Amino acid sequence: MINFDYTKPSSVKTAIDALNRDATSQIIAGGTNLVDLMKRGVVAPEKLIDITRLPLKNIELHGNIVKIGALALNSDVAEHPLVVQKLPLLSQALKAGASPQLRNMATVGGNLLQRTRCSYFYDTVMPCNKRSPGTGCGALNGYNRMHAIFGASESCIAVHPSDMCVALAALDATVVVNSNKGERRIQFREFHRLPGNTPQKDNNLQRGELITGVEVNVNDDFSKHCLYTKIRDRASYAFALISVAAALDLNGSIVQDARLAMGGVAHKPWRLTTAEKFLKGKAISTENFQQAASIALKEAKAYGYNNFKLQLAPNAIVETLKTICGIS
Ligand SMILES: Cc1cc2nc3c(=O)[nH]c(=O)nc-3n(C[C@H](O)[C@H](O)[C@H](O)COP(=O)(O)OP(=O)(O)OC[C@H]3O[C@@H](n4cnc5c(N)ncnc54)[C@H](O)[C@@H]3O)c2cc1C
Ligand code: SF4
Repeated sequence: MINFDYTKPSSVKTAIDALNRDATSQIIAGGTNLVDLMKRGVVAPEKLIDITRLPLKNIELHGNIVKIGALALNSDVAEHPLVVQKLPLLSQALKAGASPQLRNMATVGGNLLQRTRCSYFYDTVMPCNKRSPGTGCGALNGYNRMHAIFGASESCIAVHPSDMCVALAALDATVVVNSNKGERRIQFREFHRLPGNTPQKDNNLQRGELITGVEVNVNDDFSKHCLYTKIRDRASYAFALISVAAALDLNGSIVQDARLAMGGVAHKPWRLTTAEKFLKGKAISTENFQQAASIALKEAKAYGYNNFKLQLAPNAIVETLKTICGIS
């Protein structure tokens, strides 16, 4: 780990000014991801801007929108009565992530920007286009059990590791960012990127931008029928092999509208929009859910060690939808 300067501003403006002053500076919030990356030599910021003093811990209802500050802790968001009642899918996803100790440190902003858990990315002697562009992708023909089945490229087959983000994708959240140019709102599906030829870029945040919060519209129909399913190697804490965030707006036994997103399958939380369209107007049944899952998997491609995801993913979709609807 290299030496670094450390500053702890107390206003959003001072934090943004500090970020703009020095191109080698980096924001630190809970530090649960960034410190690991620094210890392993994956990143080496020369200045850390500790934002934990900024007034960005709010969790509030404004009209029909839940506004959550970037520094709200994962544990506080998961347990907040507003989130439990109005956005149960988000609460469930957060509780499925990491361990209670980690959730007590991890922030919403940091969770959005956490880096992939691809082991080649963390091992600085291995080739990795995300860490060192142009060196190749160690996972492509390597041990790729945790890796993507959607939207990957020859440059990178990593997945985004967050649980929270899968629920936020399904709920069509908005990310609010601030810079010295003012405030900008980014639709969740536009926030994270697919790898293409530039896997070193995880998202569309610009240099000098600070995440100040996320906003989620409340939809009481979706809140009544939703579920986050996470399949992982151990129950205590582990990243998702596959996860599914699903919410249904039901009129009796007919699906009026559906929201489906998956984690552990792509470089970004993966919305299953074609399956959502298919489900609209359909009756709730195992057959329709199986068809939706097979539509969702049409574009899937596995890389060897992760072939099992081609079966696990549709099974997880079907079981999640059946559980929501009480079909055994
Ligand atoms: C052992 C372990 C298990 C885990 N398991 C899971 C899991 O199962 N599911 C899951 O979802 N996560 C899991 N995590 C990841 C954890 O949720 C993230 O590390 C955490 O959410 C990051 O938040 P942080 O505040 O600590 O971010 P930091 O480590 O402080 O920062 C992460 C990144 O975000 C940037 N950043 C932070 N805040 C802002 C902001 N407001 N604006 C701009 N940039 C910002 C930083 O510069 C840095 O690049 C696990 C982590 C560990 C260590
Ligand atoms: S999958 Fe992406 S992060 Fe992993 S080795 Fe390949 S380029 Fe690096």
